[in-house]
Amino acid sequence: MMASSGSIDASHYTSSRTQTNLCFHGNPLRHLDPFGTAVNYLDSAFRNIRNLGIISVTSTDTGSLYSKSLNVTMRHYGSNIVRTEYYKELAARMVLVTVARAAARCNKGIEVMLAVAVEHFVLVVVRVLRGPTQADESAKRIRQLIHCQWCEERVFLKQGSMVEENLYRQLPCNCHGSMPGKTAVELGPLWSGPLFNSGFLRRMLCAAVQHSMEDIQPLVKTLICESECTTLKSSVHGPTALINQVECGVVIKVQKVEESGTADHSGKRKTGDEPGNVVKKLKSDGSLEHPAFYYGIHRHSIRGMNMPKLNRFLQYLTEAGFRVSRTHFDPTGVRTDATLDQFKSVLTKYSVPTYTNTTATQNPEETVRAME
Ligand SMILES: [Zn+2]
Repeated sequence: MMASSGSIDASHYTSSRTQTNLCFHGNPLRHLDPFGTAVNYLDSAFRNIRNLGIISVTSTDTGSLYSKSLNVTMRHYGSNIVRTEYYKELAARMVLVTVARAAARCNKGIEVMLAVAVEHFVLVVVRVLRGPTQADESAKRIRQLIHCQWCEERVFLKQGSMVEENLYRQLPCNCHGSMPGKTAVELGPLWSGPLFNSGFLRRMLCAAVQHSMEDIQPLVKTLICESECTTLKSSVHGPTALINQVECGVVIKVQKVEESGTADHSGKRKTGDEPGNVVKKLKSDGSLEHPAFYYGIHRHSIRGMNMPKLNRFLQYLTEAGFRVSRTHFDPTGVRTDATLDQFKSVLTKYSVPTYTNTTATQNPEETVRAME
């Protein structure tokens, strides 16, 4: 996958059984591709990598990543998880915690470039940000998640170590009020920060177009929409549009940093530079809050109702004022900042009872049978 990412300089190529060292746009790129889990190789990968270096990690231990052997998950990742409708994103966020922790042990932070989970592996690519402040900022992104066992609503626990009287209050659903006993589980620790850097992904797409790598382009386009939480395919269609956008200033953050003179050519920050500039950038980006996780449209379909087609439904959600995109993690998943209740109320509004199919009061083209 990384071979599509543009100017990789093979003259710096060194390789061992699990680790490959390359050069990416003048910065070191280290790719870990071990057999199974990568957790044992992360410390050495982060120990002596330069500021703004790129580390990519492939994990193929899908048994523990995809919630099949929970005891192995606990052993290797130290995370408590259960099988959820968003299990693939859960896996990516779990891997990122181990990556962020390995970085923090070396006084480094991470900025996630991309995190993908496909059938047989999870791939995460991060940029290394050297310094204790960056390490602290990354560590703050490690959170617990509350997951409702009834409706699968979920929310990251608020920051802070004070014990709260009723954690259920943080969960937007009211299953706890309407069902007897305990209704939610606490999952994690998980990475709660963003999973994508759209500038990096746009560069990947540029490189894929330049090198005529047709097979990877659909995935990268999906990732760009997902990273910006938009359904506007037009923003990524065609190399001309893409290059124009890049020229119009859609560039990855590292370039902005270099342009504003906070980093010299080797990627090290200059002395006398205002400390924490990168951190401020991270914080301002945090206000945009990339919506975490997704809801499966079939999982939440209304019984006895025909639901709208997925693309129509995305449009309805957008019109209702929510941020919406599809997700590569699940072909029927919807990434949105709407809560599950809001998601369901829009779905209910635009679903029609199944009998209207025969009375033909609705255009049958616009509806599909809801899966049970
Ligand atoms: Zn619930």
